[in-house]
Amino acid sequence: MNVLVWAFGGHKAASTTVFIHLTNLPHMGERIDMIRLKSNVRITMLPQSTLLGSMISHLTTAPISTRFQWPRILNSCKIWPSINTPPKYTSYQQWIDVNDKKLAPAILKYRQQQLDISLATATGNILLKACRPSIGIDPILQIPMTTFERSRLLRWRMGWLPARRVPCSRCDANHASRNHLIDCLRVAEKFNIAPTSSPNPLDYIINLLPKWSIISPSIKRANT
Ligand SMILES: [Zn+2]
Repeated sequence: MNVLVWAFGGHKAASTTVFIHLTNLPHMGERIDMIRLKSNVRITMLPQSTLLGSMISHLTTAPISTRFQWPRILNSCKIWPSINTPPKYTSYQQWIDVNDKKLAPAILKYRQQQLDISLATATGNILLKACRPSIGIDPILQIPMTTFERSRLLRWRMGWLPARRVPCSRCDANHASRNHLIDCLRVAEKFNIAPTSSPNPLDYIINLLPKWSIISPSIKRANT
């Protein structure tokens, strides 16, 4: 069973797409490109005293037909083209700085592009489209609330509410679907928003929840 499915206690065939997005976990394809990117950068940074390092000048300047698989290896990474010039470093600390200033933004930009593609797909995941259209941990996992409340919000996001086909307990409808519950509970009216709020009034409100900072306001004030 998928470890993520085990983590949120879902059926073995349950989709992990929304959970991966809510928890800001890169997809496997993105992870592969991130590893390729870091591998490419590290290879270009090897000192001349290493075998591969001594070959880099040849691999980057020789006629392309004699560069072995090096161009293919570089181009197999989808993030690499966004790195205009390979970063250089001479110390571990400099590697950290380069990683923070150059690689991390490139990776974030790539992941956002991948998310934009998913959201723009007409046949894409409707539940994913109801979430925030940006990369990051969803505030429903961070802001203070009871375990019950967090569970309900997560289950709503993942399409588990209602858990099964049941009649509405508030009216005569024989199927309390997500759309029916939003209308029947007058969510838009209670929050004083338009019934046409996208993607639906309830997810619209959830998407407005503020981002939670792990630094408390008192500590922030003390540092300013
Ligand atoms: Zn109803």
